[in-house]
Amino acid sequence: MMNYYIIFKPDLFKILFTNITQNTMNNNHTNQDNESVYESEKKVAVITGSSKGIGKAIALNFAKSKEYSSIVINSRRIGEAELVVQEIKKTTSCDSIAIPGDVAQEKDCIRLIGETVDKFQRLDVLVNNAGIQKEIPLTETTLQDWYNIISVDLTGPFICSREAVKQMKIQNNPHGGCIINISSVHQIIPRPHYVPYATSKGGIEMMTKTMALELATENIRVNIVAPGAIDTDMNINLRTNAQERENTLRKIPMGRIGRDVEVANVVEFLASNKASYITGSTVIVDGGMTLYPSFSLDYDHNSTQIFPKNNVA
Ligand code: NAD
Repeated sequence: MMNYYIIFKPDLFKILFTNITQNTMNNNHTNQDNESVYESEKKVAVITGSSKGIGKAIALNFAKSKEYSSIVINSRRIGEAELVVQEIKKTTSCDSIAIPGDVAQEKDCIRLIGETVDKFQRLDVLVNNAGIQKEIPLTETTLQDWYNIISVDLTGPFICSREAVKQMKIQNNPHGGCIINISSVHQIIPRPHYVPYATSKGGIEMMTKTMALELATENIRVNIVAPGAIDTDMNINLRTNAQERENTLRKIPMGRIGRDVEVANVVEFLASNKASYITGSTVIVDGGMTLYPSFSLDYDHNSTQIFPKNNVA
């Protein structure tokens, strides 16, 4: 009969213990990369203009994702914002508050970020979504029209980002900070009768890239989501005017208007830890609108066939 003895060797034990500990830490790290598993790691997000449309869809997606502890709903009208807060609290385990404010006003932007930090002690994600547009020929565009649109669509994102970054820089966040600007295909496609709007969205692109470069070493990522035609109140004429809808559909290779949640899904990804190596980028969500469809085949969305335009090579 053989006897077995366990010989206790302190050095061997130390190596084994170190390996086990490191493996456990590595596994935890992997988990953290894939999803926020710990309550203490959950994020606080502010979404401007989130009482309806794309902003509301982003807020609801964040709240459902379990990556967030608290969502701040902003719009100029507190009543509309409170309704979104109630929906989040009723349908998810996420906390939410409404902070009214006009992003065209510097003091409102400062208060929006300040009250968020007072309430939740941190800010991890800012989505600059609030936006307005107005169809008006260049020669009829007053200076006031210009300022009104530029103030909401370009200056607001600048002020909110500046204030958010002050906080993101001082807080301890293993995943860094994240800003997402909701731009438009009109950061690329010129749009007659929309000079201030297209100028704002073009400006957002360079603002985003410049901030991304300046903040990369701080692990603060700055990106853009650029929607095409999305079914929201901003595009009410696409619901009410059949001719306008038809004209728009002809510009969209996929042959349909987009849904707010299709934009929100991309925002959710870019804001998540899964996008940890993406900064200074634009993700276009437009059903192919920016693919120069006029150079392509004629699309007949009622048919299964597509016909070469003019039948010429
Ligand atoms: P929407 O009109 O449905 O909603 C806009 C939201 O912004 C509302 O909550 C409104 O209260 C808020 N808002 C407006 N001005 C504000 C201000 N000064 N301060 C604070 N909040 C303000 O519009 P949407 O379609 O959801 O648009 C959201 C963003 O997406 C905008 O930046 C818009 O330019 C962009 N976008 C929309 C489309 C589209 O087809 N709907 C296409 C491209 C880009």
